[in-house]
Amino acid sequence: MSNPDAHIRSLDEVGRVMIPSHMREVLGWKPGSRLEIVMDSAAPSIHIRQAVPRCSLCGKESEGLQIVANGLICPECARQIH
Ligand SMILES: [Zn+2]
Repeated sequence: MSNPDAHIRSLDEVGRVMIPSHMREVLGWKPGSRLEIVMDSAAPSIHIRQAVPRCSLCGKESEGLQIVANGLICPECARQIH
C-alpha cells in the first residue's frame, strides 16, 4: 500500500533527512521548531511531530503547566505534591 503523499528521500551520512518544504509550510514548522521523534519498533517506523510541553513528572501533555524548579509540572502533579 503506497501513500500518494509519500516522498522518497535519502538519509545523509549523519542521519539527516530533508522534510519537503510544502509539508513544513502546512505544519508550520520553521527552522528552530522543536520536533518530537518517536520510534515504533513494531512497525518499524518513526513518527515526527511538533514537540509539545509535557509535565516533567508524569510526562502528560497538559493545559496549565507551571514552571517549578526549571521543570514543568501539570496541575494534577502539583496537587499531589501539596
Ligand atoms: Zn504531571
